[in-house]
Amino acid sequence: MDQKSLISEANKYFMPTYSQFPVVFTKGDGIYLEDIEGKKYLDFVAGISVNIFGYNDQNFKNTLNEVIAKGVLHTSNLYYNQYAIEAAKKLVELSKMDKVFFCNSGTEANEAAIKLVRKYGRLKKEGKTKIVSLVNSFHGRTIGALSATGQPNYQKNFAPMVDQFKYAPINNYEELVKMVDEDTCAIFIEVVQGEGGIVSADKEYLQKVRTLCDKYDILLVCDEIQCGLGRTGKLFGWQKREIECDVMTLAKALGNGIPIGAVVTNNKCSEVLQPGDHGSTFGGNFLATSAANYVLNRLSEPQFMENVEDVSTYLNKKLIELKDKHSQIKELRGEGLMVGLAFEDKVKPIIDEALKDGLLVVSAGANVIRLLPPLIVTKKDIDKAFIILDEVLNRVNLLSNDGQ
Ligand SMILES: *Cc1c(COP(=O)(O)O)cnc(C)c1O
Repeated sequence: MDQKSLISEANKYFMPTYSQFPVVFTKGDGIYLEDIEGKKYLDFVAGISVNIFGYNDQNFKNTLNEVIAKGVLHTSNLYYNQYAIEAAKKLVELSKMDKVFFCNSGTEANEAAIKLVRKYGRLKKEGKTKIVSLVNSFHGRTIGALSATGQPNYQKNFAPMVDQFKYAPINNYEELVKMVDEDTCAIFIEVVQGEGGIVSADKEYLQKVRTLCDKYDILLVCDEIQCGLGRTGKLFGWQKREIECDVMTLAKALGNGIPIGAVVTNNKCSEVLQPGDHGSTFGGNFLATSAANYVLNRLSEPQFMENVEDVSTYLNKKLIELKDKHSQIKELRGEGLMVGLAFEDKVKPIIDEALKDGLLVVSAGANVIRLLPPLIVTKKDIDKAFIILDEVLNRVNLLSNDGQ
């Protein structure tokens, strides 16, 4: 079937949950995707910060194939599994935290974290159930994670939300302090906000938040689902800020495309959830945790992260050049290989044109173009992407559209 017919089939059989780009991908190699008509695209989205090693990675395929060849993908958490044990051990070693819970997605990781902090609060003091998260944060779509998400437009059709959540503006310590007291059990923070428009939490701010958490016995939960696992140039965004968190949630890149999420805790709260408190049928199954092992092993290679840092510096240089050339770019945001170009108007026309020219980028909020290339991106790939972006910005000037 051709692309057009497939898309009309999709519209017939799927709930209209997503507004999708008119393309059906069938193959990929390195940082390129290929659609069903054979057109190639340079991918600066990576399945939304998921495919950090790009496509058709032979070693990754071998890893999955070995598990498949043995014939057992899943046994449930009624029994132990070697891959999960190995993955948990690696996560603990890399984060220098204490214990791990595996689930299947980001929203589930945050859901588990919300239950964990509420129980922690209950163990400390009856009524210690308040949770503060940040304005414009994104923590997921289930009701609990959505309640933590500080964006009314995501919540409005599904009220009432879970009780006792408050939202403080990012990088504003004074406002945060006003919302916190001894009945607060946790503060949830994305170290770099992704969906909210690529906004970094400052080091100084986070260090003060850490001190505040210590003062009131509050758990600091870092949602590293999008910004974690190498994206910022460090393994975890909080490491860059020289703070420690009590709970970290991970997903997206952790399985390089195989669905997996994780909650990692420090020793303050790693025994809070007891048998019967929480669980997941699929959580941490053979296939998912073998994928995670591959990801964590490769991220642990020092050359790998050195290269990410090197390429990040180059990307940053190219961004500055592009902004200097195009006054419609108002602001550059983000860090590492998680960056945003902020405009005054909706960026959809630019993204659509880039797609036509064979470059995949995605928005973060209506006015920000977000770049999340696979971490294996090279300077040459970046050059190619920026030639396309430059051409597209010459063609689509959001500023001059006003008068038309
Ligand atoms: C994507 C994302 C989530 C939700 O993850 P899903 O796997 O889509 O459920 C939560 N938090 C952040 C920061 C994210 O970027």
